[in-house]
Amino acid sequence: MDNRRILLNRGKGLGGSSGINWGMYVRGNRGDFDHWAQLGNTGWSYGDVLPFMKRSEASSVFDDDFHGTDGAISIEMPHNLHPLQEMCFKVYEDLGVPRNPDYNGRTQEGCFHYQFTTKDGLRVSAADGFLKPVRQRPNLTVVTGALITGVTFDGKRALGVSYAKGREAAFVSAGEVILSMGTIGSPQLLMLSGVGPEAHLEEHGIQYIHDLAGVGQNLLDHFAGPGVGFRLKEPEKFGFPIPDEAASLREFESKRTGPLATTGVDAGAFVRLRDSDEYPSAQSICFVANTHLDRAMETPPGVRFGGYVCRTVSRGSVRLASASPFDRPFVDPNYLSDQIDLDTHVELIRFHQRVAEHPVFESIRDQVDGPGYDKDAIIAATRAEARTTWHLTSTCRMGSDQTAVVGPDLKVRGIENLRVVDASVFPTMTSGNTNAPTMMVAEKGASLILGETV
Ligand SMILES: Cc1cc2nc3c(=O)[nH]c(=O)nc-3n(C[C@H](O)[C@H](O)[C@H](O)COP(=O)(O)OP(=O)(O)OC[C@H]3O[C@@H](n4cnc5c(N)ncnc54)[C@H](O)[C@@H]3O)c2cc1C
Repeated sequence: MDNRRILLNRGKGLGGSSGINWGMYVRGNRGDFDHWAQLGNTGWSYGDVLPFMKRSEASSVFDDDFHGTDGAISIEMPHNLHPLQEMCFKVYEDLGVPRNPDYNGRTQEGCFHYQFTTKDGLRVSAADGFLKPVRQRPNLTVVTGALITGVTFDGKRALGVSYAKGREAAFVSAGEVILSMGTIGSPQLLMLSGVGPEAHLEEHGIQYIHDLAGVGQNLLDHFAGPGVGFRLKEPEKFGFPIPDEAASLREFESKRTGPLATTGVDAGAFVRLRDSDEYPSAQSICFVANTHLDRAMETPPGVRFGGYVCRTVSRGSVRLASASPFDRPFVDPNYLSDQIDLDTHVELIRFHQRVAEHPVFESIRDQVDGPGYDKDAIIAATRAEARTTWHLTSTCRMGSDQTAVVGPDLKVRGIENLRVVDASVFPTMTSGNTNAPTMMVAEKGASLILGETV
């Protein structure tokens, strides 16, 4: 990646990154979870986890064996469909990708409009869905503006956590400590608290509680870029730029429709790049550039095709920069360190180049932007431009082997009274965005904690 530093945002409010994400509701492929079970994670096959996916879902779109209708998280279709998306679907179909109205249903492969975690067109974060309705419970205390600084142990038994709030320091004892601090935060706190690779803890003079070599290792992420797309000959015919932003805002506020009722990523596809792929190897996203997005993305009006290889194998790490909880850790995604990722990525960029150059767009297309088909050119552009898609997972990997951090019951191995419940426990990455499978881990984690599930 040309040794670049890449901006890696995280949501800091209640609900974490679900409060700032793009809202795409993508569960992953059934094969991902069956693979989790094959790796020794009993209870985590697709058949095992589907009930927990359904449990959180309040779908206003589907009501069948694959969907829930009365869960905490409202799921909707986009509120402003654009004619350019239909053209994209025609192209995908022509390139052998069938239409599939529900990629979260029986089969993932195909092209579609994305499903979103919204209610009446507005974001539903994990806090909106799960926390706000129970805020008044007498047995719940929410502390905000606080930084958790460590887990306290008696031998190998977790007793509680300490936190800092401004200049105040406090300790909370707990019958069971549950860390849900995300793929960067959870391993960081474990290491700060003395649970992690012994030599690394020693480097920072941290008192050792338990040697667990896998903590902070196995970092996985989907990376994306360079963008491929085309500019429009007559953007105004497609509503770009938005002719009257004030009127559009009024329309959005009153009806939740119109050009502002979109994040620009409403359509896409799951694609098998090679006939030999057992299930989709790449996720394609078509960005229909809207005025507000143009500003953010600094791209001229048109259509961009982004997305990523579904299951990359390059592994990175989260390591402490110091023994202070106030310092950010070093995050090294180590993208492209495995040749397989690079080869599949080159195929994806070539696929997007074919989509952008397709004759369906001929009459409306101006210039095509992209690195072309040459492998070296694609690799050079990727190293120069690729970035995170914020799907970090697996730094407290679930498993039963020596480097696994938690077991299938989400308990930290070798420690009592401590679980991790967030995206860091994914044994491998899922084929798609990571919010829905994280909520599934949370539903199943809640069930394990309550003793409902074994
Ligand atoms: C910009 C962006 C866009 C994304 N788009 C999508 C999308 O469209 N669809 C999708 O499915 N996924 C998307 N994702 C990914 C998805 O949101 C995450 O996978 C998911 O939120 C991970 O949940 P988590 O609970 O593991 O961690 P997080 O959501 O990161 O939550 C961790 C929480 O712990 C808190 N925390 C951490 N350390 C401490 C500490 N020391 N003290 C106190 N609190 C602490 C954090 O502040 C945060 O609130 C996106 C993510 C980002 C950032």
